[in-house]
Amino acid sequence: RYQSLGYNRVLEIHKEHLSPVVTAYFQKPLLLHQGHMEWLFDAEGNRYLDFFSGIVTVSVGHCHPKVNAVAQKQLGRLWHTSTVFFHPPMHEYAEKLAALLPEPLKVIFLVNSGSEANELAMLMARAHSNNIDIISFRGAYHGCSPYTLGLTNVGTYKMELPGGTGCQPTMCPDVFRGPWGGSHCRDSPVQTIRKCSCAPDCCQAKDQYIEQFKDTLSTSVAKSIAGFFAEPIQGVNGVVQYPKGFLKEAFELVRARGGVCIADEVQTGFGRLGSHFWGFQTHDVLPDIVTMAKGIGNGFPMAAVITTPEIAKSLAKRLQHFNTFGGNPMACAIGSAVLEVIKEENLQENSQEVGTYMLLKFAKLRDEFEIVGDVRGKGLMIGIEMVQDKISCRPLPREEVNQIHEDCKHMGLLVGRGSIFSQTFRIAPSMCITKPEVDFAVEVFHSALTQHMERRAK
Ligand code: PMP
Repeated sequence: RYQSLGYNRVLEIHKEHLSPVVTAYFQKPLLLHQGHMEWLFDAEGNRYLDFFSGIVTVSVGHCHPKVNAVAQKQLGRLWHTSTVFFHPPMHEYAEKLAALLPEPLKVIFLVNSGSEANELAMLMARAHSNNIDIISFRGAYHGCSPYTLGLTNVGTYKMELPGGTGCQPTMCPDVFRGPWGGSHCRDSPVQTIRKCSCAPDCCQAKDQYIEQFKDTLSTSVAKSIAGFFAEPIQGVNGVVQYPKGFLKEAFELVRARGGVCIADEVQTGFGRLGSHFWGFQTHDVLPDIVTMAKGIGNGFPMAAVITTPEIAKSLAKRLQHFNTFGGNPMACAIGSAVLEVIKEENLQENSQEVGTYMLLKFAKLRDEFEIVGDVRGKGLMIGIEMVQDKISCRPLPREEVNQIHEDCKHMGLLVGRGSIFSQTFRIAPSMCITKPEVDFAVEVFHSALTQHMERRAK
């Protein structure tokens, strides 16, 4: 424990020295001291089951012993070189990571955060296509840096200040919130209650959303575009899934206009979706550029952009690109250890098995509680959207969702939040999670909902 700082002192320092633009969860934010695998411990020694893994980042468990051992070894050997020198951890890592992607995605740029990775991907798309316009979905989160803020379309982060220019939002084909619904249309063991007109497997809703996409292409952007960014499942927007087949058609439309397709795997990559290692594979598409961060380093700051030799050359032709810490020895050694742990401990398979088990259990709560409007997701990326009732599907007011969130915390369960009115609970634990822990979490959530319904009835 850190004995030097008590909670009140931390609050004082926070108020005085830390920027108010960054907000924390809970009325009394947690002061965390320690983490072990899927558990976190606060200053008073209370333990919490971490079902948000530091915002979908701690992929293999807090302070995983193997990752820690590798980090400690590298710490004593070499921390930093900058890219003007070579060092084996970078080359070992590049080879290992490239082996996990399909050809021709094999040229890697190592950076330090998801925003940086997406900035670089924007630059590459423009350098390669010689076009400017880039499209992203409403509700997308691709970063908070000035350039990527053009792509991010979540109201909370969109400041009325000049951001990335040449970025065009397009309708998100959200089968729960979108105008055409989409029952039977999403790649999840649980389908939405928002019915579309199609029979199982035919996906007419997808065609309607594609018409909207075409409309953006013909009315909002220049004749030729630079690129299209998509998360395989939207994270910050509340685990939003698109109809099956949508991305495939959208990619074709973008390429026909000279643009490149970018998959943002910052939340969905590294086996989290269970059935596949990368989220784009669940849509049966091959992007031109893939960006990744968060789970790549199990919480260590690192990120990557992977592309084809041809696109990499287009950027190299322009000039040089430099990044002091990108590909540093610590990050690369840790990144390699994370990949080994995912493989050795079958964590992708665990995401599939335990994730599906959890999703089906949470889906039962949708049947039981009027205020649970949608349960969705894939593997260990799950969203539970709270509504006022299942007929209107209007979002449950923020104060009510806050109360349920607080109640879960008091019972030892940490979950995340998402969606435009913060009405969706996001569940994305470390991939080492077990079924008994899921049982505990579902029980806590059930009790929080029951308490809430009692409060509402009063
Ligand atoms: N893309 C996605 C899908 C994200 O969820 C995030 C972070 N929430 C980012 C990019 C930006 O990553 P970072 O915070 O590391 O800059």
